[in-house]
Amino acid sequence: GEKRAQEFKKHGILNIYDLLTYYPTSYQDRRSYVSAEALVPGMETCVNCWLKGGVRTYRKRRNFSISSAVFVDETGTFSCVWYNQPYIDRMLRPNVLYTLYGKVEKSNRGLQMVNPVVESNENSRVTGKIVPVYPMNKGIGNKTLQKMLHEAIQRYLPLMPEPLPVSVMEKYKLMPLQEAIQNIHFPVDYLVLEKARQRIAFEAFFLFQMSVAKLKYMGRKKGIVYTKIDGAFEKRLPFCLTEAQQKVVRTVKEDFVSGFAMNRLIQGDVGSGKTAVAAYAMDLTLKNGYQAAMMAPTEILALQHYKTLQNLFPEVQTAFLTSSTSKKEKQKIKNGLASGDVRLVIGTHALIQEDVAFQNLGLVVTDEQHRFGVTQRTKLGLKGKSPHVLVMTATPIPRTLALILYGDLDISVIDSLPPGRQKVDTFCVGDNYRTRVYTFLKERIAAGEQAYIICPLVEESDAVDAKDATSFAEKLRSVLPNTVVGLLHGKMKDKEKESVMQDFADAKISVLVATTVVEVGVDVPNATVMIIENAERFGLSQLHQLRGRVGRGKKKSYCILFAQTRNPETLQRLKVIEKSTDGFYISEMDLKLRGPGDFFGTRQHGIPALKTANPMEDTALLYQAKEAVDGLISGVLCVSQQEKKTLNSVLHHCFFKKEITEILN
Ligand code: ADP
Ligand code: MG
Repeated sequence: GEKRAQEFKKHGILNIYDLLTYYPTSYQDRRSYVSAEALVPGMETCVNCWLKGGVRTYRKRRNFSISSAVFVDETGTFSCVWYNQPYIDRMLRPNVLYTLYGKVEKSNRGLQMVNPVVESNENSRVTGKIVPVYPMNKGIGNKTLQKMLHEAIQRYLPLMPEPLPVSVMEKYKLMPLQEAIQNIHFPVDYLVLEKARQRIAFEAFFLFQMSVAKLKYMGRKKGIVYTKIDGAFEKRLPFCLTEAQQKVVRTVKEDFVSGFAMNRLIQGDVGSGKTAVAAYAMDLTLKNGYQAAMMAPTEILALQHYKTLQNLFPEVQTAFLTSSTSKKEKQKIKNGLASGDVRLVIGTHALIQEDVAFQNLGLVVTDEQHRFGVTQRTKLGLKGKSPHVLVMTATPIPRTLALILYGDLDISVIDSLPPGRQKVDTFCVGDNYRTRVYTFLKERIAAGEQAYIICPLVEESDAVDAKDATSFAEKLRSVLPNTVVGLLHGKMKDKEKESVMQDFADAKISVLVATTVVEVGVDVPNATVMIIENAERFGLSQLHQLRGRVGRGKKKSYCILFAQTRNPETLQRLKVIEKSTDGFYISEMDLKLRGPGDFFGTRQHGIPALKTANPMEDTALLYQAKEAVDGLISGVLCVSQQEKKTLNSVLHHCFFKKEITEILN
């Protein structure tokens, strides 16, 4: 019917396949039976019994009826009531053995079951079993869904193709798909249910990674081959590259001569020196006669990179392009990029606008990848004739998630910090420490050092009880009368932001009150104090990023978290930051404590909405699936022509199609 179809549609169910893969969210164990005399209040159980007498229905009001009946077995009697189920009357007959399932309560007429499920004992479907509970609680009732699924399974399950090759099923001892679907809806017992769930989770991981692998290999484009790959660039740097940086540089060089377009993600904790690696790659690109582009998520960061790179490559014509670049200037830069006069461009999203064309783009660098959707990254990569692509992220993504999120990228990790870095001492304190913190702040400023103070809001808000940067900066100016206090937030004009940031970098501003606009990338080594207001409002990884703004030079640095909460869970979360400086550990904990959805904002990052598979809990399955995909691609696991065909057609129609497209668009 129309109405039911609409309801199904709301839950993404358009056909039988969707219905069969609409999995329960929980189960009710209805396998225990007792006799009437053994019933106790609070019990949820099945009873086999007969109807004694008839059913009496009272219509209290037009929309309110109560039906009641008495049931009997060899040991005793008990009564049942049903609210608003007048049809129960027509369902029940004498001399039929029924199975009832429900919760036992005490009433003034003795023990009774309220709204029990009743069915004839002969072909029981929803009693004496583990029964599925579906997430569609409104619209279509659980009972109806169970009935429809029963029918769908009986009639259509045998037609469902098995997407996994036999070799994979055997190697990982997986349940066949049909058996798994049958048991995920109507499990015989919990052991079988878990096996079914694992099989389905494995398949989800497998198909997803298979799709990504297909993308990766099919999308593997012939790339520009660089002929000059000497290492003279290092001489331009004021420091020696660390072993960890050199390792990544070597890999990048290999990519440059491989004949394929590089598609590499560099993961490195805050301050690990990703910019130098990117600059190295840019240097090679320029030397080989190609243009290079770098995209950063914020104007502040882009500007900072622009300045750094201008200093590193003084002989190269370099441009800075953002949405606030004047129209005239923009046109000039675009012309320069198209003609090839401009060799290096640094900018924000403005760079991926369609009308920016390059003469011979060789390398695209995206900094702080986690701030961009995958689309944007892909778009810039489409600019030239398959340029090399390098993306950098400081969000230390646990390997498990990296596998899923960046399956189409090769991953390199800068796994150590440059020498001489000191641990940032971190303290989580309450408001009672405020005076002491300000005294400390004054000392640091007197010593010529600088500080950031981060507030969660830009302006005062009635709706949210949290510190706002604007009035906080005002207040601070009276607390620190002889100090230059600057203000920086996202609502300011780009030119203003730029000049504030520049003044801070030049130490003309001592204390910068800011929102999280300084979260990514900003590098002012003289800043040694990071104070975060309402720290309870930030995620752990975000706090770690913010803390990463200090401790970048040789001087001892400090991070003070003001927590305006007594919630033990929140305080426990903040303890993680206090104790650890390991970005990977912190993000693992963040994931554990908040779940991946919160962590990344699922949609933005295109984590597939896996129906039954949770990459954080089913890590072992995820790795097995990865191994299986690699095995099939490399030929270690065999696959017949017929299996290949099925797999391809499933991949073509598979439930991830939407997610994959989402990732690409
Ligand atoms: P991130 O990885 O967070 O982007 P940056 O590239 O901004 O880190 O580098 C952080 C700081 O470390 C910068 O001031 C940079 O000049 C410095 N740096 C990078 N590599 C080294 C190195 N090998 N030795 C010393 N300092 C380095
Ligand atoms: Mg950086």
